[in-house]
Amino acid sequence: MKTISEHNNTYQQPKIELSMAGVLCDDCQIEMFYPQPYAVLACIPPKMTVQCPKCNKIDYKIR
Ligand SMILES: [Zn+2]
Repeated sequence: MKTISEHNNTYQQPKIELSMAGVLCDDCQIEMFYPQPYAVLACIPPKMTVQCPKCNKIDYKIR
């Protein structure tokens, strides 16, 4: 078994992968992604923030 220090030293930051949103940017026609894939906006209906990787436009996708 490892010591707590050994364990913490070997911890690696999980690789951040873009979560693709499956929708296209209105302007660029390229696929947008979820900048905060785990954050669902608490409204009705629930929406998720999506962002264009090209123009950085933020929009909201109904989940
Ligand atoms: Zn765009």
